[in-house]
This record gives sequence, structure tokens and C-alpha cells, in this order.
Amino acid sequence: MRVFAAGLITETNTFAPWPTGAQGFCEEGPFHGDVTTRGKDTEMGLQASGWRDLCHERGHEFVESLFAIAQPSGRAVQSVYEGFRDEILADLKAKGPFDVVLLSLHGAMVSQACDDCEGDILARVRAIVGPNAAVGAHLDPHCHLTPLMIEKATAIVIMKEYPHTDYMERGKELFDICIGAAQGTLKPVSHLFDCRMVGFYPTTTEPMRSLVDKCFAAEKRPGVLSVSIGHGFPWGDTPETGTKILAVADGDAALAQSVAAGIGHDIYAHREALLPKFPKIEDALGTARETNGCAVLADTADNAGGGAPSDNVSLLRAMIEHKVQDAAFGCIWDPIAVRTCAEAGVGATLPLRIGGKSGPASGDPIDIIATVKAFRADHDQQGLGPSRSPMGDAVWIAVEEIDVVLMSTRTQTFAPDAFTGLGIDLKAKRMIAVKSSWHFQALFGPIADRIIPVATPGAIQMDFAAIDYRKKRDRDFFPRVKNPLGL
Ligand SMILES: [Zn+2]
Repeated sequence: MRVFAAGLITETNTFAPWPTGAQGFCEEGPFHGDVTTRGKDTEMGLQASGWRDLCHERGHEFVESLFAIAQPSGRAVQSVYEGFRDEILADLKAKGPFDVVLLSLHGAMVSQACDDCEGDILARVRAIVGPNAAVGAHLDPHCHLTPLMIEKATAIVIMKEYPHTDYMERGKELFDICIGAAQGTLKPVSHLFDCRMVGFYPTTTEPMRSLVDKCFAAEKRPGVLSVSIGHGFPWGDTPETGTKILAVADGDAALAQSVAAGIGHDIYAHREALLPKFPKIEDALGTARETNGCAVLADTADNAGGGAPSDNVSLLRAMIEHKVQDAAFGCIWDPIAVRTCAEAGVGATLPLRIGGKSGPASGDPIDIIATVKAFRADHDQQGLGPSRSPMGDAVWIAVEEIDVVLMSTRTQTFAPDAFTGLGIDLKAKRMIAVKSSWHFQALFGPIADRIIPVATPGAIQMDFAAIDYRKKRDRDFFPRVKNPLGL
């Protein structure tokens, strides 16, 4: 078998004002056929290396093409999207023919002229390789599953966990299904069930944990190849935005249909309980103060991982006003402040304006007196799984009794080493606030005595009924409508 692999990943927040351009794809790559060597520590590199190793173990030829990823922002610049897409297609043509094509995609990439970039890529790949090759896509759960994607792919497998810790496992499942299909031992058929919901579904808490475990249980049924929950990405306005269930069965369309509908109805039945109920800042600080040990607070609405700027300082301002002590806050995207602190030098105390720079969702900046405690060029942190996530130049500043991290590369705060890598001792902290919606829980969970996701102001609001959709086809979704399926 000849196996071709490529990746093009970004999650588009169509409400974010700034575009995802070429520079956005340069913070981690892009890798033109060398992600398994030059980019092997990245999430894309780990997944591609997993596919490469499986090919070598089983005697298949592995050919890698472009792997590119950008931090979530607004719509991708059309020429940038088409440039990357066409590089993959040109490699596929030039180095083919192939029996299997494995694509690492997000599922919520939107460009200036295309609402369904993944469907577009899959359709063009299918046109090149023909009907007999297996074309598989690995997606993030925050995806818009579209009929075009289902039609053009042989199989789609989506990560089950949020935090997304299972990309290696799901990548291997996709590999096995696609190799089986190409060899003729499997005949994957897919069914998509539309829950008619918009929501946010961390899988570490109930009732979502049990619902994900039901997907694992369903996969043990004879003939079921894969069951995925497409959470949807609420802040991407496309015709197909929403929560959907995808089941893949071996040659049995009726089985795929019944499994997808079964899980879909189960999630739908829990829709009220699944709505996020986060405390406001004042209440969250009160709960944090009462915590015996260390409280980790999440600045959920200003998460770069969902396309927010990561420079809203509302939560930090409240912490300063409440004279919080033994606290850390990070990481604020503010390249100007980073540069200013680097110029002043470690040990300097200076007036500094931080945050509030990107647009209305950033809120107002804050003027403080900062002491520069440390500077690190090309700082990074642990990302998802064992991958590394670049942060650019970063500084540790002391503001009153709070240790604050500023960075020059926009990313969410995944891991304690975002702080400790600059010398901040988190063991002594009673309050740590991080800019992330949920991924932080994988690595901050072990040091937290209590985790408090906070309803902060910012670009990622959890009031789904109020999101100003213009393109979404289904306007009568939950929670706008109490019972859209009429069950
Ligand atoms: Zn995601």
C-alpha cells in the first residue's frame, strides 16, 4: 500500500475581526514534507509520526506532504488557504498514485470565500485519487460536520476527549479503518445525526463523561467501526454549525444510522444539564478565597484557542482590586509590553499599560507599575499530550502581589511550565488564573485543589442563544428553542 499524509489545521472564529494569514501559519511550521523530522515535537508531528511508524511496521510506503497549523483567528485569507490546499493537491498528483490518503484537519476552517474548507479539500482529493482509494480525515471535536465532508471521505474520526488528549489513539483508528478499506476487508459507511444543538461540552465532567463512554461502548458492538461526537464550534458561523453525531459501520448503513441516532438522542436528552453554568468574576474570586489550597481560575471567554485575542485584562483587574495575594495570572498576549519590559531589563520597575489592544472584545487596558522579574526568548510550554506549544518572547512581571506572564506569540495557557519556565514558583500560590476554556485542566488539574471556570467578558461567550448567526441554516436550535427535535 502507498499512504499519503498531509495536514492543514485552524479553527476559524468568524466573529474575530483579524484574518488568519500567512504569518499565522508560521508560528509552528509550516512543514513542507518534513513534519516527522523537523516538527516531530509538535502535535501535528506526533500524529504524522504515528502514521509513519504504523506504515513502516506493516510494510506500507509513507509519503508526507504539507503540515501547517495556525492559532484560531478570523477567516483565513483566501490566497493563503488556496496556496496550502493546492500544495497538498500538487504533491498528491506528482507523487501518486496512492491507495490511502490520511488528512489531519480541524473541521472548522473557514476562508474568505469558503465556509467548508475541509469539505473543499476532501472533494478535491477525491477527484484526484478516484473512488477506490481510501481517504480519511482526522478532526477536532469543535468541527462543523458537513454532508460534503461525509460524502467525499471514506471515513472521518474525531477526537473524543476535551481536553483533546487522544489524537494519537484516534489517528491510529483512522489509519486502521482506511487501510482496511483500501485492502477491501472493510466497507465503511457513515451516518450523520443532527442534534440541532449548539453547546460547549468538556468531557471531564458529567453528564458528558458518561456520554463519551457510551461512544466507546457502542464501538465494541459488532460491525461498528467508529462513533464520534462533533461538538461543533459555536463561534464559527457556517450553514452547518452545530452538534452532530457521526457513526461509521462496516457495510451496514442501518447500523450506522441507529448508532448515531441513539447517541444523538442521549445527548439531546441531557441538553439542559450540558449548558455551561460558570460563575461571574466576583463570585469566582469569593469561591477561590474560600478554597483550602490552590484555586485555578479559567478566563474562559478570552481563550486564544477559540479565536479570542488573549489580551482582555478584566479578571486581572478584579484580582488587583481585590488585593489578591500569592497569585499568578497568565498568559496575556501583549508583544508591545513584552518588548518594553525586555528593553527595561530584569530588575527594572516601570509604568506599563497592558492588554486591551486588539478590539472591542479585549475590553479596556490596565495601567500598572510592574517589576520585571524574568525574560525568556522563545519561551514555550507543554501543549496537548507531549507536544510543545510556542509562546514567543515572554516576561514575568510582578504587579502588586500577583505574578503575571506576558507573551509575544498568541496562544492559550495549557501548562504550569508557561509560568515555571520563567522561574515562577506555583507551589506557593493560592490562586492561579489562566487564559483557557478547558484544555488547561489536563495539566493544571493535578496542582489544583479547586478548578473554577469563570464567566469573564471576551470573545467566546457561552450564551449560545444570543450568538448573532447570519449563515447558520438551522435557526431553531437549542438553546434558542427548548425542544427543536420535538421529542
Ligand atoms: Zn477543539
